[in-house]
Formats: sequence, C-alpha cells, structure tokens
Amino acid sequence: MLTCADVVKLVTQYMEDELSPDDSRSFEEHVAICPPCRAFLGQARRTVELTGELKETDLSPEVEAHLLEAFRDWNRPR
Ligand SMILES: [Zn+2]
Repeated sequence: MLTCADVVKLVTQYMEDELSPDDSRSFEEHVAICPPCRAFLGQARRTVELTGELKETDLSPEVEAHLLEAFRDWNRPR
C-alpha cells in the first residue's frame, strides 16, 4: 500500500504512464480510499489540462502545504 507521500511523489509518473502495472494499481487503490489524494490527483490533472504538462514546481510549495493540511485533517481521529 502506498502512503500519501508516495502518491505525491509518483503522480507525474502515474499520469505519464511510467509506473509499473503493480505501482499503478497501488496508486489507484490508494486514491480510491483517500479523499485528499483524490483531490490532489484532480488538481494535478487540471494543471496538465491547462498547461499541457506537469512540472514538479507546479505542485509546490503552495499545493504541497495545502495538501499536508488536508492530510492532517484526514488523519486526525474523529
Ligand atoms: Zn492519501
């Protein structure tokens, strides 16, 4: 199982179809059960649609900070 940090790290490779089938499946499994990562993937996809590409810099540091916030909320016990 991937962690949220793995998803952030692998998202460009995922969208460019560069992950192995196993990694790709783990990625999708994580995104399916993790709303912040789903939102993050949606945001990454929109960035690609708008700019035609996704650079590492497009995801940081603002997005990353926002994401960490979301993860913190998500991980907080209710
Ligand atoms: Zn996650």
